[in-house]
Amino acid sequence: MRFSSYQNLRKKLLDRETSCEAVVHDYLERILKNRDRNVYITVFNERALERARELDRKLGDGRKPGKLFGLPMAIKDNLSVEGASLTCASRILSHYTAVYNATAVERLLAEDAVFLGKVNMDEFAMGSSNENSAFGPVPNPYDKTRVPGGSSGGSAAAVAGDLAMVALGSDTGGSVRQPAGFCNVVGLKPTYGRISRYGLVAFGSSFDQIGVLSKNCDDAAQVLNVVAGKDDADTTSSHHVVPDYAEEMDRVSVKGLKIGVPKEYFPENLDEGVAAVVSERLEELQEAGAELLEITLPESDYAIAAYYILTTAEASSNLARFDGARYGYRSQNAEDLGGMYVNSRTEGFGSEVKRRIMLGTYVLSAGYYDTYYKKAQQVRRIFLNRYQEALGKVDVIAGPTSPFPPFGIGDKVSDPLEMYLADVFTVPASIAGMPALSVPAGFDGSGLPVGLQLIGDFFEEGKLLGIAREIQGGQEQ
Ligand code: GLN
Repeated sequence: MRFSSYQNLRKKLLDRETSCEAVVHDYLERILKNRDRNVYITVFNERALERARELDRKLGDGRKPGKLFGLPMAIKDNLSVEGASLTCASRILSHYTAVYNATAVERLLAEDAVFLGKVNMDEFAMGSSNENSAFGPVPNPYDKTRVPGGSSGGSAAAVAGDLAMVALGSDTGGSVRQPAGFCNVVGLKPTYGRISRYGLVAFGSSFDQIGVLSKNCDDAAQVLNVVAGKDDADTTSSHHVVPDYAEEMDRVSVKGLKIGVPKEYFPENLDEGVAAVVSERLEELQEAGAELLEITLPESDYAIAAYYILTTAEASSNLARFDGARYGYRSQNAEDLGGMYVNSRTEGFGSEVKRRIMLGTYVLSAGYYDTYYKKAQQVRRIFLNRYQEALGKVDVIAGPTSPFPPFGIGDKVSDPLEMYLADVFTVPASIAGMPALSVPAGFDGSGLPVGLQLIGDFFEEGKLLGIAREIQGGQEQ
């Protein structure tokens, strides 16, 4: 049983051509058969089937089905689902059970979605390849010797491999968009504050945003309709009214659309295959009546540096709570309290997480604060101004999601700086807090997927999804 879209599945469910139980059973079977893909850290099995039966009874009793009735979903393992394990793909949380639902999770449940389980990721969402997981790497669905991207690698691989219809991920600097690009699915990172972060384990709180991964833009819009909106439990969530994203998408017309193409997003060392595929899609939009305008975002070279100063600073503070006393793992090899803290963290965290805690502590320390942290905050403001200025002149900014196609497992693990460059095109929207998505753009000469990124002004998720749908639709004809 495979469905091209949620609408299609929904219709079959409401017409009683199939049942939630049958659909969930089918997904669970496929998950089991594909255990070697290492996509799920926890599979809900009985819990998902029980939920499906409950939904079938609901329909049977004539009660009104929710907006996401029977939608089989995967949840990134840094989001709280009450009563389920929450690991953040870290040893330090490997035996931790969540005690409440994240707001996004709660809203999905209220509209009758079904969770199949919790999916793999880079430890605490730090990484671009899913190789920083304490539960091992995830192979790319198009070439198992390559990475699926990260940190939401499990979310992207789940959707690409039909191991979930839609997945939630989180994006701090590209973790929804980059894996979506690597796995040929749609990945939307909404405006900062669009979705409540309550129940999302914090990495860089002023960057973190929950995102949606799906096969097509319509499904992403349906899910965003449900999870977006103000939440009293997250003071950074926005009051901005939540529109009907499906309607917003319908209002988009390619004719006359001004697409800004930053020359910094097409540097000389850009992978040729990536450049060719993205350019081809942009030319098609031009043929359909859009206007391509070359723009310049001159500070682009500073994005990675600013991002890694600010997010490591925030991470060093956010991760202080994992001390062996409050959650999860506690070292057994300590003689006193100080030793317990040190050993729990030393044994519990992986090397990338430790690197970032140390970096963040360093940039915040007396004597370096002004040189690094304060400077990076100033750069952040410049980015915001530049992107707003650009989006005052064009409707949307477009370019590749990643400078290269999915790389080999192991290729970049020994060189963190190389790994950080995977995010060069995705971090600016996170620095500015603007919405951005990656849409499948086609395949390079070796058959590897290429993603195209669209960046919009604040709260223009509907517009981005509408344009992305045109790009995806154009290829199917
Ligand atoms: N790859 C980036 C990093 O390692 C982005 C991670 C994310 O968006 N969570 O920080």
